[in-house]
Amino acid sequence: MLTILYRGPLASCDYDCAYCPFAKRRDSPEQLRADREALERFAGWVGEQPFEVSVLFTPWGEGLVRSWYRRALVELSWLPNVAKVAIQTNLSCRTDWLSEASDRAALWVTYHPTQVAYDRFLGKVRSLPVRHSVGIVGDPAHLPDARRLRSDLPARTYLWVNAEEGRLYTDEEAAEWSAIDPLFHVSRFPHRSAGLPCRTGDSVISVNGDGTVRRCHFIPEVLGNLYDGSYRAALRPRPCPAAACDCHIGYVHLEPLGLYDVFTGGILERIPAVWP
Ligand code: SF4
Ligand code: SF4
Repeated sequence: MLTILYRGPLASCDYDCAYCPFAKRRDSPEQLRADREALERFAGWVGEQPFEVSVLFTPWGEGLVRSWYRRALVELSWLPNVAKVAIQTNLSCRTDWLSEASDRAALWVTYHPTQVAYDRFLGKVRSLPVRHSVGIVGDPAHLPDARRLRSDLPARTYLWVNAEEGRLYTDEEAAEWSAIDPLFHVSRFPHRSAGLPCRTGDSVISVNGDGTVRRCHFIPEVLGNLYDGSYRAALRPRPCPAAACDCHIGYVHLEPLGLYDVFTGGILERIPAVWP
């Protein structure tokens, strides 16, 4: 089984969050065409593999407002060798098309309170026909929204809270967020990772639009290319070369944290095995 974090050239988003960590831009028609071609090439490659693949799309911008991401999610979800296909999304897209996906499709949904009306967001989440987690950035200004969302979401829906980048939480503040997400402590501090075993570069890889393979999104060293097969010879267990890892899509694969046990069956879409 190979887990792939795919990030194509798409970098535009229909939202404009103040805390957005990405360098957003307006994609030109040529850039959108290139993103579409890269995604279709990647999806075609997945379908040709003789082994099991799981995919998490982690676009710089919003993918599901583009037809090719919606199509890829549905089509990949039906392939016999795809165990899971998930995408990080702000859920601004319409959602009726998701009923065409198999139960192997999943969403990592983030609520951005300044960008969408609460009732509109809640209504969409409640009607989702596929597995999903919902999350929010732990900005103190979002605390009332987060509490309200927790109480309005079905109990079976996991609501995660991401510690805001660079913010230090007092124990009292952390307790408030932990009352909403009991796993908030996992996100509260960056994880020291230097020298520790991490599944990336072995059973997990990061792939960009031209097929360049790296172990994860955060380590620039290139392992090879997906499409010429050169990455395969580089796959092996290896320690993390970075001082710290502070993003869930990275440290979930850091072995000493034991998060594969916490998120068994929902590692890519961030759903704990035991919830609620
Ligand atoms: S929805 Fe995500 S990508 Fe878009 S502006 Fe907000 S944080 Fe950035
Ligand atoms: S711990 Fe994080 S930064 Fe280090 S290799 Fe794993 S995913 Fe990459």
